[in-house]
Amino acid sequence: MAADCIFCRIHKGEIPAQKVYEDAKCFAILDINPVASGHVLVLPKDHHETWTDLPADLAADLARATQKVALAAKKAAGAEGYNLLMNNHRCSGQAIFHAHFHIIPRKTNDGKSFEWKTKPYDAGQLDKAADAIRTALK
Ligand code: 5GP
Ligand code: ZN
Repeated sequence: MAADCIFCRIHKGEIPAQKVYEDAKCFAILDINPVASGHVLVLPKDHHETWTDLPADLAADLARATQKVALAAKKAAGAEGYNLLMNNHRCSGQAIFHAHFHIIPRKTNDGKSFEWKTKPYDAGQLDKAADAIRTALK
């Protein structure tokens, strides 16, 4: 529990939210400012800032809960699919520092988009990037 964390305060019942799912370790609420109707946030009850701060067992619990809620959110919205994402750290867009997955129901031509500008690697950079990750994993 972090006293200044909105999601901890929602878990404690200090701030209202539309809770749509709960189990022993995790719960899910509607995002108050959704990308699409039925946009859900799935999160652990315990306060951890990012995905990699979660103890592995809790990450597994959160993954299981997220699968359940994703199916339900897709069905409830009459959606064809969904985006599943987590922002980690401020630079990525994380605004609430209590790890949470976003589930955003999607339909073909629904007008939603993620404006990521992609470009191919410059010569030699793909191999370098892969090597850097392999080294970091050692
Ligand atoms: P982040 O940028 O940290 O990945 O996403 C935080 C999300 O929490 C945002 O999509 C925002 O709309 C949502 N949010 C912020 N404050 C509240 C709140 O008080 N209640 C609920 N249900 N969602 C919130
Ligand atoms: Zn918290």
